[in-house]
Amino acid sequence: MPEKIKEVTVYAPATVANVVCGFDILGFALSEPNDKMVVRVSDKKGVTIINKDKYNLPTDPAKNVAGVALLALLDALNGEVAGFEIESTKVIKPGSGIGSSAASAAAVVVAANQLLDNRFTNEELVAFAMCGEEVASGAKHADNIAPCIYGGVTLIRNNDPLDIIPIPAPPMYVTVLHPQIEIKTSEARGILKKKVAMKDAITQWANVAGLIAGLMKGDYALIGRSLTDVIVEPMRSMLIPRFKEVKQESMKAGALGGGISGSGPSVFMLSKDEVTAHKVEAAIKGVYDKVGIDYHIYVTTISDKGVRVV
Ligand code: ADP
Repeated sequence: MPEKIKEVTVYAPATVANVVCGFDILGFALSEPNDKMVVRVSDKKGVTIINKDKYNLPTDPAKNVAGVALLALLDALNGEVAGFEIESTKVIKPGSGIGSSAASAAAVVVAANQLLDNRFTNEELVAFAMCGEEVASGAKHADNIAPCIYGGVTLIRNNDPLDIIPIPAPPMYVTVLHPQIEIKTSEARGILKKKVAMKDAITQWANVAGLIAGLMKGDYALIGRSLTDVIVEPMRSMLIPRFKEVKQESMKAGALGGGISGSGPSVFMLSKDEVTAHKVEAAIKGVYDKVGIDYHIYVTTISDKGVRVV
């Protein structure tokens, strides 16, 4: 009998959630950046976390999304394994709005599953990882976790019971702007109205349907027309300096459309090809160079791969 593997290394991608009209239900995986996590079976009970980066995230597993996700998985094993050790090297900055917490949670459950001969389904892994997300944002949501594990674009049709639908999509480039400011998730939530006007609801669900149809048909023009959010963006965009101008200049440079990533502060713009995505990058730089706050900007693609085991 070959000896059982005791250690697995994985890379987990950043993700964009709240895709414009698809608030709370649509997300996609990015090719870059990725977090690196090593997970080991351990004789020590529970979850031990070793941080190998500069972010000073909690090492108490109950306060770290990766710890909570893995404790949920450990619980389902009914004592078969005593514990796990996580070595975490984060590249995705916590609080950036591109699914930093989801990447940690997704990474460790996929790695642990590999150590356990892949006995859990992807859907079960999403459910474990969602327990981790609750620590970061106070809510169990899957809109970053699902694309992080499945790759590509995913629709969360329902949270409980989970109903995850991978949506086929044509190749797309993503320009990501990350202003170096902090937006508290609680603030971004607090700003939302509790009620929606019927006419806005109709516009929104027409656009969600249009976006899904556009993605599945590979119809870039339809994708572009449907990337409109009349409910959340008008309120949340106030939290991001020069959001309107960034969007306007991006559209002039040829972007299909885009919006706030997660609850911000990152902003993403989709383009059909790489040349356009770099023109969008230049257009956004033109706006942000005058703002006087630090920012990172880069061009990547929607990735059809989720967490990768190496
Ligand atoms: P993001 O979209 O970047 O994940 P969130 O606000 O959803 O932003 O999550 C970041 C919050 O979660 C931060 O307050 C961070 O301290 C906390 N957190 C706890 N554990 C982790 C982890 N392993 N990775 C990232 N963030 C974590």
